[in-house]
Amino acid sequence: MSRVIIIGCGGVASVAIHKCCQLDDVFTDLCIASRTVSKCDKIKNDLIGKTKTNITTRAVDASSFDSLVALFKDYKPEIVMHLGMPYHNLTIMDACLECGCHYLDTAAYEPEDVLEPKWRKRYEERVKEKGFTSYFDYSYQWEYMEKFKEKGLIALLGCGFDPGVTQAYVAYAKKHEFDTIETLDILDCNGGDHGYPFATNFNPEINLREVSSHGAYVLDGKWHEVLPMSIHKKYDFDGVGVKDMYLLHHEEIESINKNFPEIKRIKFYMTFGESYLRHMKCLENVGLLSTTPIDYEGHKIVPIQFLKALLPDPSTLGPRTKGKTNIGCIFDGYKDGIRKQFYIYNVCDHEEAYKEVGSQAISYTTGVPAMVGAMLVLKGIWTNTGVHTLDELDPDPFIDGLNKYGLPSKTTNKPVMVE
Ligand code: NDP
Repeated sequence: MSRVIIIGCGGVASVAIHKCCQLDDVFTDLCIASRTVSKCDKIKNDLIGKTKTNITTRAVDASSFDSLVALFKDYKPEIVMHLGMPYHNLTIMDACLECGCHYLDTAAYEPEDVLEPKWRKRYEERVKEKGFTSYFDYSYQWEYMEKFKEKGLIALLGCGFDPGVTQAYVAYAKKHEFDTIETLDILDCNGGDHGYPFATNFNPEINLREVSSHGAYVLDGKWHEVLPMSIHKKYDFDGVGVKDMYLLHHEEIESINKNFPEIKRIKFYMTFGESYLRHMKCLENVGLLSTTPIDYEGHKIVPIQFLKALLPDPSTLGPRTKGKTNIGCIFDGYKDGIRKQFYIYNVCDHEEAYKEVGSQAISYTTGVPAMVGAMLVLKGIWTNTGVHTLDELDPDPFIDGLNKYGLPSKTTNKPVMVE
């Protein structure tokens, strides 16, 4: 018997809901709670007769502590899987502490309003101190460590693919393959084609904030920033072929740098097609990626939120996306005094993901790890109380779960190295 609340009912949540319902002996009672309850009802209706999980749906405002506490006190979940917007991470963590529930999310906290003075002051101090300018960082959620420990609760941060599986791959490499790891390249390739000139594969606001930011990497423990898309490489991905990839800042670099200080160089690359980059540059040039509200005929409009309303909803891309994703980590280091390389990755097919759960592979590769992470907490396999990214936990049961439930890992000791 387990009671679980999933917050959000977009692309990622939809996959997690389907996967939880496949494991109806673990996820016996599931509440789907989101802003637009009709979306929750639609998924519930689609699943009727296909699962023994007892599904209920509720409206919730994830930005409101009171709304969340009322829901959690009423439903009494063991774990809350937050698969909505990262703007609400802290409010949902507060509500979990208040009501005694475990917590899981798939993206590090960032604020909706990046001009809010208190947040801005701290952000500018962090930029000066650490040297990276992304709006997201883990520090806000790491501050909850003692509070979660005191209550005997677990908070799993970034339990998607990247962040998420990529950090578990680092823990796995250290546990089984290396005595010391010297360099790490995280490679995220989406070889899928949805046929639109421009669309994002997950929430457009978060996606465009991320990819239009400066790139950043860690070398000898120090952060280095570069202009957006200014470091470019080609790589031949298994299952996909040769793609152009660009260095980005990504949140797992921060936790891996903290938890594995031995790794001298940590870089993250993501593939982008020419059409995506051209559109993004143009939208940026005309101001549509701005997060600063403007006044339009008496209404306050946040340009990037307006753009989101115009772009295809990522959860509707499933039926039209063909091709594969390939996401993984390439390591260089030493085992028993001998230098070695190791590459661990997953290849996921958009059309197969759609056939199984009605979503494209980006949502699939995020929703499956979220389900597996929640399962390990519910089964009492991951018991580390406090706030954790996946590089801090035993990777074996997680990677076994991914292998079993749709995201099998492939490995090689002879990867083509990026540098
Ligand atoms: P979507 O935009 O498809 O879904 C977001 C959901 O959150 C929607 O259902 C939305 O409701 C709901 N929501 C928004 N605001 C509120 C609110 N105030 N109260 C209640 N519900 C709200 O996003 P995705 O599914 O694509 O992404 C979900 C998360 O996963 C994001 O944080 C994203 O960054 C992360 N992600 C992580 C990845 C990883 O590998 N770690 C990869 C991809 C995504 P409504 O339907 O009303 O709009």
